[in-house]
Amino acid sequence: MEAHSVNILPLLKNQWGITRLQYLQQIGKIAQQRGIAAYLVGGAVRDLFLQRYAPDMDIAVEGDVRALAEACKAQIPGADYQYHERFGTATLQNPHGFALDMAQCRLEHYPAPAALPEVRPGDILADLARRDFTVNAMALRLDPEHFGKLLDPYAGQADLQRGQLRTLHSRSFLDDPTRILRGLRFAARFQMALVPESRQQLREALQADIFARLSAARLWRELRYLLELAVLPQALSLLSDWNLWFLLRPAPADIHAIQALIQRGQEQIQWMQQHFPQEPIAVTTVMLILLWQDSPLADIQQHLDQWPIPDRSRLQADLRIIPDLPKTIPQSIRPSQRAKIWQGCSVAGILAAMAMYPDNPVLVDSARLYLLKQKHLQPMLNGQELQALGLTAGPSLGNVLKLLRDAQLDGEISDKETAQQWLIKQGILPANPR
Ligand code: ATP
Repeated sequence: MEAHSVNILPLLKNQWGITRLQYLQQIGKIAQQRGIAAYLVGGAVRDLFLQRYAPDMDIAVEGDVRALAEACKAQIPGADYQYHERFGTATLQNPHGFALDMAQCRLEHYPAPAALPEVRPGDILADLARRDFTVNAMALRLDPEHFGKLLDPYAGQADLQRGQLRTLHSRSFLDDPTRILRGLRFAARFQMALVPESRQQLREALQADIFARLSAARLWRELRYLLELAVLPQALSLLSDWNLWFLLRPAPADIHAIQALIQRGQEQIQWMQQHFPQEPIAVTTVMLILLWQDSPLADIQQHLDQWPIPDRSRLQADLRIIPDLPKTIPQSIRPSQRAKIWQGCSVAGILAAMAMYPDNPVLVDSARLYLLKQKHLQPMLNGQELQALGLTAGPSLGNVLKLLRDAQLDGEISDKETAQQWLIKQGILPANPR
């Protein structure tokens, strides 16, 4: 059977379950009633063949997106949608919990290398032709008569089976260099290899210094996705193989050492997530610190100036403080002194430090203690209670709170009573309170 005539209905049912299948069938039926052709496209089709769960589903529509979304809302119980005027796309929500994006099929034209494309409405073939790789350029028909029929004009299914990553045309990376980093991520996630023609295109794009034309914001977006990859250690090998280290830093002398470092960073993040599942962790910051730990600050500064990194001053502070930690932490004997040092780092910085110095148990234990206990320490006496004891509000009260916190960290006080006695001993409170 030829790839383009494969009916993958059974695969859809087994892989994603009957609810999703029926939902897609409903959309296909509603679209047909309106004379609109609708297709499941892109990553979801790829993931289906890879027998992976696809968290997002994209529907390409030959026709009016808003009209189709409105009809779905009217006819599917519990469905609702948001229309995004600027992009002409709609997100369809449903009670089953999966979201689905609808976009009009479009034709793209790149007016200049690395520029944003000019777009106009097109048909499904035009829409597949604008995509990045053959494995992402497949579509499934949703109309009832041909539901589940595969459109695969670039033989993406065969490439997927062979683990081959292939662009659709020779200017693909020049048109849009973000595809290079997208490709690297796919290659790492799905263990795919860039085919020789596409590899040659990659070389040409790099020779043309194509990334210099890409806006910093677009580059940073792609790098963030890269740094957040679970398979980042494997992706780093590809950075070497594809000659892309220059985007982040000079190529490392010992790739295995940096892979191991990144893996330890990921383990520390997991440890933190287990203890504080609600707390968001700046994964990209942890990874940047680890990747930059052996680079001179001046080199890093160049990236920091260009990329819209959130909280860059914290990151700079982390990079300054962390190299001294193997000395400063063991040298500081009192728990309060150590806590004060950790306080100067972000959580991301602390996790990075734990990954960088795994053979320094004093440092690692102290970091854990800080993150688990000291950071969230509740004061024995709060500001109101101190005022009730006769202290006046203002900056000096803040100082007293800090002193109390240190005393608490150092085990000198253990409850309100001992805290009060400690304040008297320090001369902060009179011996005979009012
Ligand atoms: P995942 O979400 O698992 O990372 P995906 O393929 O769904 O994979 P998206 O970023 O959601 O990734 O993109 C959806 C689809 O849009 C892709 O499968 C691809 O067909 C197309 N696409 C996205 N970005 C580009 C691009 N820069 N150039 C061409 N096509 C693109």
